[in-house]
Amino acid sequence: MDNDILFLEPVFKTVIWGGTRLRDDFGYDIPSETTGECWAVSAHPHGDCVVAEGRFKGRTLSDLWKNVPELFGTDNTGDFPLLIKIIDAKQDLSIQVHPDDEYAAKNENGAFGKTECWYVLDADEGATIVIGHNAATKEEMISMIDEKRWNDFIRVIPVKKGDFFQIEPGTLHAIKGGTLILETQQNSDITYRVYDYDRLSNGQPRELHLEKSKDVIVCPFEQKDPVPAEPAKAAYIGGGTMKRLVSCRYYSVYEVDVKIKGWLGGEYPFLIGSVVEGEGSIAGHPVKKGTHFIVPNDFGTFEINGDMKLIVSHI
Ligand code: ZN
Repeated sequence: MDNDILFLEPVFKTVIWGGTRLRDDFGYDIPSETTGECWAVSAHPHGDCVVAEGRFKGRTLSDLWKNVPELFGTDNTGDFPLLIKIIDAKQDLSIQVHPDDEYAAKNENGAFGKTECWYVLDADEGATIVIGHNAATKEEMISMIDEKRWNDFIRVIPVKKGDFFQIEPGTLHAIKGGTLILETQQNSDITYRVYDYDRLSNGQPRELHLEKSKDVIVCPFEQKDPVPAEPAKAAYIGGGTMKRLVSCRYYSVYEVDVKIKGWLGGEYPFLIGSVVEGEGSIAGHPVKKGTHFIVPNDFGTFEINGDMKLIVSHI
């Protein structure tokens, strides 16, 4: 019993752009009719998940990371490295960009930058998303921002269920209304807001961070293949399929479609999982859409049963 899987209680965030799909689609007990974020696996001080059951019941992920490091195969230095969220965008989010580690360390009191990725759980008919921009050079980017030529500048593309986007630091991005996504990201909060559709919040426009944005936006925008040549560290065999969505220096993310029965394992220090469709069991423990868990270090290959889709990740 030394290697229990950690099942986590999500933390919810009320935001102006949120909706009710975290209740309607996932069955969560949400705090408001504008709940936009479910922090599903988080040790961040703004939303530290608590273990739901078992011998660590009631303890936070940050506490376990620091005080029971053997669960994660780490030496308990630094912070828990990742943050997994489900985002329900009923309305458009502001258009933003994140710095890389180097820029954040220099300009944000030693903070980390942010690399993130989005798996689209669902999208309304005709929904779109902002990924990248259309400026060819840094000079053109700066003049498009200064002249507020947003329609020319911002790259808006159609989005549908099952799409995946890796968002490197320096990439302009925004989720638009009618989109439900699962986000895997570096555990950082440093965001520069570029454009907020000239909306008012409590009668005031929200603060923009144009100078820092101009520093960090990469020109021209380039879409790279997020899956490198090196072999994956996790593998699934049995009924269904596993597809690697990305591997980068911070994380690898996979989509696993389980049909009846299979086995998942690999060379990762620990594994994060989210059930995003269906139901079944993980190592004999019942799970369903909306269950989030961490498979601890040295747990080994484990059996999965059921008819469900998981998004799993590791560092
Ligand atoms: Zn972001």
